[in-house]
Amino acid sequence: GAKADGRNAFQFYSAELNTASLGELLLENQLRGALDRDELVLFYQPKVDGRSGQLAGAEALLRWRHPELGLLAPGRFVPAAEESGLIVPIGEWVLRSACRQMRAWLDAGLQPPPVAVNLSAQQLAQQDLVALVHDALSSHRLPAGMLELELTETMLMRDVDHTIEVLARLRAMGVRLAIDDFGSGYSSLAYLKLFEVDVLKIDRSFVNDIRSDGAEGTIAAAVIALAHSLGQQVVAEGVENDYQRDFLARHHCDQFQGYLFGRPEPVADFTRRLHPR
Ligand code: C2E
Ligand code: MG
Ligand code: MG
Ligand code: MG
Repeated sequence: GAKADGRNAFQFYSAELNTASLGELLLENQLRGALDRDELVLFYQPKVDGRSGQLAGAEALLRWRHPELGLLAPGRFVPAAEESGLIVPIGEWVLRSACRQMRAWLDAGLQPPPVAVNLSAQQLAQQDLVALVHDALSSHRLPAGMLELELTETMLMRDVDHTIEVLARLRAMGVRLAIDDFGSGYSSLAYLKLFEVDVLKIDRSFVNDIRSDGAEGTIAAAVIALAHSLGQQVVAEGVENDYQRDFLARHHCDQFQGYLFGRPEPVADFTRRLHPR
């Protein structure tokens, strides 16, 4: 009858849910120990200058060397880290590790470019983020201009007043600020002016739209013009071919990041790109 069907439907549904959450719970429990077991690592992806093609920056991207599952990309575990709040200690580890790495490069007589680190919304909401950033830089004797923080539009919109204040304090310290995946979230162009960031990163989807078979680079070109009119630099992410690079260069895009120039790579590989001081 209807009642039995309804119950079966419910059981089927909850069984599915349980399977999904069991997997997530397991991963979340393992993630708790991943930091202590040194299973998290940073990969580095180059950003190059739009004119010279020279190395101009790097983005630190988190990976988890899972003992059974192998190398996991952030898409596999960052959502669980955010849900559980573990992203706060993990994010602190990311920030300090990137700073420690820059210091190691300098001590090895190399010239590292500024390194960008991704922040999550919970870190931005954290009361002591400014103090943490300050401590990470000063304990490794780094000028603040070596560090760039990437934030998404959606994060910025959560608590506008708080965000404006935190960003102003970070920027006063000399840290560079970037809006990541620009154009993919819901942001107001009016707010863009309030936040006063240094860099806009054009979302990969708009770079992907740049194809030889049509006038599809319109949004990428418009974002470049917008950023420049606000006095900001533009980085295009997800640049995969010469056609995209040439189009973006013609539109005066400041920096490129994408597989065409290099994938996110382990520190030893990235280190080979650095020149002596
Ligand atoms: P994101 O910050 O937008 O990072 C760029 C992503 O695009 C990276 O994926 C990178 O591998 C990928 N990518 C770069 N160039 C290309 C390209 O030419 N083609 C394609 N198809 N993809 C490209 P990844 O490393 O899997 O990271 C995904 C997202 O995870 C990041 O997106 C960022 O939002 C998040 N994430 C990474 N590391 C951290 C972290 O330390 N903390 C937090 N909170 N989030 C992180
Ligand atoms: Mg990013
Ligand atoms: Mg991005
Ligand atoms: Mg992205």
